[in-house]
Amino acid sequence: MHNRAIVFLDMDGVLADFFRAFADWAGVNHWKELTEEELAEELDRIIGSDFFANIPKTPSCDQIIQLALGFSGSYSILSSPLRNDEENTIIQKKIWIQKNLSPLPEEIFIVREKFPFAQYQGTKNILIDDRPDNIIQWKEAGGFGIRYQANKDDIELIEKELINIQL
Ligand SMILES: [Mg+2]
Repeated sequence: MHNRAIVFLDMDGVLADFFRAFADWAGVNHWKELTEEELAEELDRIIGSDFFANIPKTPSCDQIIQLALGFSGSYSILSSPLRNDEENTIIQKKIWIQKNLSPLPEEIFIVREKFPFAQYQGTKNILIDDRPDNIIQWKEAGGFGIRYQANKDDIELIEKELINIQL
């Protein structure tokens, strides 16, 4: 028997190694080496490109999918588009999902606001995301939030949090 709650997975910083890919795109070791102006320039250069379709998976991507499947039997994607490039980001992220994820997600939402999905379909749902703001808003909206940064955290963090969630 699986839990009825939907496990929503973020892409950038969780399943997709955005920070690695963006540093490579900008030709630096870490995006923090960029000045504010350079950062804005590099983000602008992504507009209309296939950047989001070609990001490598994070090392824990497949394990996260397996944990979600073990918990819920399926998972869905809840990701945000790049500002000023929404239509193209949605297309590129859907290509990324097709190329990299197996099994494919139940549903895909690429939207700016995540919290309206906290109780989507009448269940108290789970969000795994690297942005503190997203987690705070999700919890305020009545969901379970797990903050996970693929380049910093151990996969066991997700495992333990899922065990702690009582449904
Ligand atoms: Mg993210």
